[in-house]
Amino acid sequence: MAKSRVLVVGGTGYLGRRIVKASLAEGHPTFVLHRPEIGTDIEKVQLLLSFKEQGARLVEGSFRNHGSLVDAVRQVDVVICAISGVHTRSHQILLQLELVDAIKEAGNIKVRFLPSEFGTDPARMGHALAPGRVTFDDKMVVRKAIEEANIPFTYISANCFMGYFVGGLCQPGKIIPSTESVCLHGDGNVKAIYVDEDDIALYTIKTIDDHRALNKTIYIRPPQNILSQREVVMAWEELIGKELEKTSISEEEFLSIIKDQEFAWQVGLGHYYNVCYEGCLTNFEIDEEEEASHLYPEVAYTRVKDYLRRYV
Ligand code: NDP
Repeated sequence: MAKSRVLVVGGTGYLGRRIVKASLAEGHPTFVLHRPEIGTDIEKVQLLLSFKEQGARLVEGSFRNHGSLVDAVRQVDVVICAISGVHTRSHQILLQLELVDAIKEAGNIKVRFLPSEFGTDPARMGHALAPGRVTFDDKMVVRKAIEEANIPFTYISANCFMGYFVGGLCQPGKIIPSTESVCLHGDGNVKAIYVDEDDIALYTIKTIDDHRALNKTIYIRPPQNILSQREVVMAWEELIGKELEKTSISEEEFLSIIKDQEFAWQVGLGHYYNVCYEGCLTNFEIDEEEEASHLYPEVAYTRVKDYLRRYV
């Protein structure tokens, strides 16, 4: 079977660039949206050119120009969107409604759409506190539009990006592990799930020609990477051959600190609360058939301890 043609939207982003790389590596004809709005952003332009050198095709298109999005979508079988969705960086999740309209209009072929999700499953976050819940609510608005338009989809629940969570030993606002100290969330024993960003991209690409992932949420839960904060810290301590000084912040203290932050940080800290105190990533069961490392055992995923070696 010929490999699907893939359009990556948000291809120069933190995750998007990895999705482009994985799509090319897996042999998919790969198209990357080139938005005219990036103008003279030399980093983005150079990255796009490097994709072209590696065999990708650049397609000009803008969220401000519906026709250009329709034209871009008409060239492919699968659209993967990795548009921004972290408030402390940029959050443009609802712009994807334009993309849904374009896919609907292009509708001559049944294009599968993978919207920008790649985190906590928003369908399980109806209880989340404001304002952090805005991320989940917006992602659900996009899901609703996709499903109402009968667009085939796959939703990727990627859990915690390692760069943020493992790099910072699960502490918000930190992305490099200290060799001196760490602050634990409560007793530090709540389990979360950590995934290397390149692995997220590869698993994502693996789903697109797989009928088992059609119209489903696929969870990335590499079994060796389901760990508590204490276990992540222990892996780091083993690598540096030293025990860190540990303090702890209670659930009540953490919640009270959130209130004093600016909006973007309230959202981000809300997510850390969901993950590190509530255990929202691990407090439910899934079937094997919904789990990426089970579906694609050929992917040699990165273990937390191996990821941490880069910081030694
Ligand atoms: P980035 O912040 O790196 O942005 C991705 C892309 O969004 C940009 O490169 C750009 O695309 C596009 N974009 C930004 N602003 C606009 C705009 N105004 N109009 C059109 N396009 C725009 O995204 P991330 O890689 O950090 O996030 C991708 C997804 O991953 C999100 O859904 C996010 O929620 C999720 N995530 C999950 C995490 C986790 O731990 N589970 C952690 C971080 C993110 P272009 O290339 O065209 O310039």
